[in-house]
Amino acid sequence: MKKLTGIPASPGIVTGKTFLYLEDDFPEIPHYFIPKTMVETEWKRFEKAVGEATEEIRGLRDQAAKEATTAAAKEQAKILEAHMMMLEDPDFQDQLKARLSSSLQNIEWVVWDISRELTGKLLASPDPLFRERAADISDVSNRILAKLLSLKKRFSLADISEDVILVVHDLLPSDVLSLNRDHVKGLAMDMGGRTSHTAILARAFGIPAVLGLSSISREVENGEALVVDGDSGTVIIKPDKAAWQRYEESLSKFQKREKKFLSLRELPAETKDGRHITLKANIEVPEEADQAIRYGAEGIGLYRSEFFFLTPGESADEERQYLAYTQVLKTMGGLPVTIRTMDMGGDKVLPEHQVSGEKNPLLGWRAIRFSLALPEIFKTQLRAILRAGVNGNVKIMFPMISGIEELEAALKILDEVRAEGRAAGHAAGQPTGRSKKQPYAKNIEVGAMIEIPSAAMTADILAKKADFFSLGTNDLIQYSLAVDRGNERVNYLAQPLHPAMLRLIKNTIDAAHHQGIIAAMCGEMAGDPSMTALLLGLGLDEFSMNASAIPSVKEVIRRVDQQSCQALAREALSCSSYQQVVKLVK
Ligand code: PEP
Ligand code: MG
Repeated sequence: MKKLTGIPASPGIVTGKTFLYLEDDFPEIPHYFIPKTMVETEWKRFEKAVGEATEEIRGLRDQAAKEATTAAAKEQAKILEAHMMMLEDPDFQDQLKARLSSSLQNIEWVVWDISRELTGKLLASPDPLFRERAADISDVSNRILAKLLSLKKRFSLADISEDVILVVHDLLPSDVLSLNRDHVKGLAMDMGGRTSHTAILARAFGIPAVLGLSSISREVENGEALVVDGDSGTVIIKPDKAAWQRYEESLSKFQKREKKFLSLRELPAETKDGRHITLKANIEVPEEADQAIRYGAEGIGLYRSEFFFLTPGESADEERQYLAYTQVLKTMGGLPVTIRTMDMGGDKVLPEHQVSGEKNPLLGWRAIRFSLALPEIFKTQLRAILRAGVNGNVKIMFPMISGIEELEAALKILDEVRAEGRAAGHAAGQPTGRSKKQPYAKNIEVGAMIEIPSAAMTADILAKKADFFSLGTNDLIQYSLAVDRGNERVNYLAQPLHPAMLRLIKNTIDAAHHQGIIAAMCGEMAGDPSMTALLLGLGLDEFSMNASAIPSVKEVIRRVDQQSCQALAREALSCSSYQQVVKLVK
């Protein structure tokens, strides 16, 4: 038994069998494990690769035979003939197939591994004829590998077909979107921090996860038993009986707690002295809206629309976007839905817009910068939102606004879309009537995310142009404290209660209120019940979070009154270090 400690990234406890996914560790020959059900598919890939390699060698041999006037060409034709025989050699193929079925590793790896073994043995032989054969084997296996690597269909995380705990070195958000959520019961990862998008998606999909484990992908074997405790941030490899029992008990406690939380659903989020606080949910994919309703969300405070563009196999044309947004609006049945326009870039990139060589992608071409630079893509999204908006109560929010120029530029494009719509007959808010043009929603509120320090510092200026603010504390922490949110080594510095953060938050809320607009928060800080009272005291109007966090935040709201929260906030603002604030808040 071995216990590893990482970052608790998604709550819940799960026990199960390890599925080790190692693809990125071996850039030349991909290496990963496959489920049993994939053996036949892998073998078919091999047969196809052998077929193509044989054709290629046959062509070369025929060419050599035609030119076989010299002894060298004759020799070459003979060698190629031998290679063809090797490729089709039943013993070689049986050996590969047996290894594929027993080791359950991808076929490229099996070919490479067996050829390495065979050539090693031959090269160790004193007989020069055997040693020469080693080169032939390398040659043949390299040819198969080249074919295999160019065959597109490879194992994907969507193909996982039995219940497993996924262990990986690192995963991109788009990988998380593609994994088979029915069968991936837990996630343990070497890399990643609590507010990385991989963690956010794991929480969204209810997959218990521990990230930032540094070495788990090297310490665990495929198929080994594992416990992932996403509450405490621990992972146990090969748990003993006592550990199993302990975790089964915690699991049942976790389930009881969930049940109790769900019973809070109908109760209002109201302080003891009667102030109502709006609690909304963050979503990444439309299906999560059901979950938001289940946990009693009063709307969607952040729909991270960029994940729609990153979902494999999803084409992001206007119609598809319109359908996705409509689905969310209809599920929410008239409750407000804030669609954040695509926050592309950073760790969320579309292959066709990948910018090579960005040294600092998190400071680079992303979010609103991307949308303003590619107005056609931006306008398509805005059109889809405006059209979908007639099916409910939609709001638009722009990500990563750094200053007034960007907000004005984005608003100008939105106005252009409306004007183009009018010209094309999409009368604002009018019923479709006989005209085939769908109407656009009217009187939509348009807000700005406050997640860059410059925006928080100039919130008074931005407030004049925005209908609401939403504080994105994940990025606000990242940019004001200079801490990469996905880097587990500096995760300890990502302190939401840092005095600088409290001042930026306060400045934003005060500026919003001064202008008579709402200050919301949709960063992970909003879903942390230990910070709820402080945020209330700072004057926050709306909290938006992972739906499953709503009950615990509501529970705090119902236990406090405004006066004591304000006193707490005043004291917190006078602290000089985050440790002091943490102590105070506790
Ligand atoms: C944030 O930055 O706090 C936020 C809510 O946006 P995202 O996590 O998607 O960057
Ligand atoms: Mg952000």
